[in-house]
Amino acid sequence: MDSPLFARAALIGIGLIGSSLARAMRRDGLAGHVAVCTRRDSTLDEARGLDLGDSYTTDPAEAVHGANLVMICAPLGAYAAIAERVGAALMPGCVVSDVGSTKTSVIRDLSPHIPDGCHLVPGHPVAGTEHSGPAAGFADLFRDRWCILTPPPGTDPKATALVAALWERAGMSVQVMDPEHHDRVLGITSHLPHLIAYTIVGTACALESDLQKEVVKYSAGGFRDFTRIAASDPVMWRDVFLNNKDAVLEMLQRFTEDLTALQRAIRWGEGDVLQHHFEKTREIRRGVIDMHQAGTFLPTESDGP
Ligand code: NAP
Repeated sequence: MDSPLFARAALIGIGLIGSSLARAMRRDGLAGHVAVCTRRDSTLDEARGLDLGDSYTTDPAEAVHGANLVMICAPLGAYAAIAERVGAALMPGCVVSDVGSTKTSVIRDLSPHIPDGCHLVPGHPVAGTEHSGPAAGFADLFRDRWCILTPPPGTDPKATALVAALWERAGMSVQVMDPEHHDRVLGITSHLPHLIAYTIVGTACALESDLQKEVVKYSAGGFRDFTRIAASDPVMWRDVFLNNKDAVLEMLQRFTEDLTALQRAIRWGEGDVLQHHFEKTREIRRGVIDMHQAGTFLPTESDGP
């Protein structure tokens, strides 16, 4: 096993992603000491019971004390308050990173609280499931997935390299990207598909009760996959849409236009238009398989988060 990348790492948030990283850190010896921090006592007790770290606290400032790495693994809506609480407690040279599903908002919310001499390297491991909480995590979640890093201009390349090494040793491939570009790419590959799933499941729910029973009974026809995605964490996804508003609205506008075009083809019996469209989308699926991104536990995000 290689030597630890960080003498002390603090994980702020220990749900699906934080606990998966904690497990990968332990398995691969990525940090000498892992300080676990979460908001509620009950979640902290669960993390302790699962032996996810070396020390446990509900106080973020205590968790980051002496840490070389602080990894924020909480919902996006909590970032600004967390950063405000930890900013003054960060050790000089500390690298602050995160796993949030949007990146422009993360730079907006974190950077005002990062003192000179500390390094902000936002990140997004594009891997996940529809489950939440410490027990849902597993070390292999990140294996053969992409992690996107969005260091702001002027970031020390050594800090970016350290965060890249962390995710690579956890099994990911790393890509550095501009934060606005990240938000547009994930807007179409992750955020819009979730919005569609939430919509279609909501539409089915709103149908009268007899039909609802039929919906569940025959769900293997395609609806089932939407219900899995629409079971994703409500708080996390509320925050994703609130924090990637512009990109999601842009992609939604394009989607609506394309849907209208297909609607028109159905209305006018234009089978060739439909078939041509479906042939193109089948090609895209083949591309996803060829790039080994069609895993069995299809992340809700890369589906991720
Ligand atoms: P999760 O399983 O729901 O865990 C969330 C963690 O954050 C818990 O430890 C929770 O603490 C803590 N937390 C919640 N609200 C908080 C608040 N207001 N202040 C401080 N801490 C709070 O969530 P997750 O799926 O790991 O997601 C965490 C982050 O990863 C999100 O930013 C998400 O965008 C990103 N992400 C998710 C996925 C995915 O598929 N799930 C994939 C990639 C990235 P308590 O339980 O103690 O309240």
